[in-house]
Amino acid sequence: RIAYVNGAFVPVAEARVSIFDRGFLFGDAIYEVTAVLDGKLIDSALHTARLQRSTNEIGIRMSVSPDQIGEIQKALVERNALVEGLIYLQMTRGVEERDFLFSDDLDPTLVMFTQSKKLIDSPALKAGLAVKSVEDMRWARRDIKSTCLLPQILAKRIAKDAGCQEAWMIEDGVVTEGASSTAYIVMADGSIVTRANSNKTLPGCTRLALLQLAQETGVCVEERPFSLEEALGATEAGMTSASNFVLPVTMIDGQPVGNGTPGPVMQRLRELYIEHARKTAI
Ligand code: PLP
Repeated sequence: RIAYVNGAFVPVAEARVSIFDRGFLFGDAIYEVTAVLDGKLIDSALHTARLQRSTNEIGIRMSVSPDQIGEIQKALVERNALVEGLIYLQMTRGVEERDFLFSDDLDPTLVMFTQSKKLIDSPALKAGLAVKSVEDMRWARRDIKSTCLLPQILAKRIAKDAGCQEAWMIEDGVVTEGASSTAYIVMADGSIVTRANSNKTLPGCTRLALLQLAQETGVCVEERPFSLEEALGATEAGMTSASNFVLPVTMIDGQPVGNGTPGPVMQRLRELYIEHARKTAI
């Protein structure tokens, strides 16, 4: 496997960053995960735009343009002969002697690597996902895609121990989002409900693309929070992320959602998203 490190393509075994990298020392870094389908990047412009926004919010000066990132990612996919999977990208504030305060003239560290993964033939698709609710213990700027992921790591561990594949994080009696996904429920009239973007959640790229597709195809979208009780009484539930596209959620805390099997609305939305992904891939 070949990785990208600060301008060079290198075998992963030789890919190195400094122990003084602020990403390593402080989690002073932003990341993005972009899907690859048929050897092409999915929703690349949305991911590079979000990267630009996240880095801007914490004052990391991007050393490469969004377009250049797309070009590097295409080259990386080609070098790895990746057909289906993910590209992980991380941009850190850079390297300097450890201090909470940082210099303004640091050169950011930019690292990317690929991971092979089955995205279309998802094993979770047939049964749907089981979700475990956990307390949302994250900070107040979840709109920034920072690599400080300890709350999500612990939430996913709790979910796994309960036999679940994802955690839904709860705050003030409502679902904020999944540990690494956006959360949805489907109403009896076929409309879908998901939270509006704010500092409380990560603005999902898959969410953005999917809501547009929903509107174009006449699926009503209501952007508001929902509780676990409402989700358990909903006809369907689901999640989106770049690494899973769109998946049905069929169990929450051991109780079935609707009849406990993947429903037509989430399955249709998955088809729509994959069709969009293939059409707009670069
Ligand atoms: N919410 C959180 C907390 C995430 O970590 C992710 C993705 O990793 C998402 C939502 C989904 O975002 P996207 O669709 O851009 O992958």
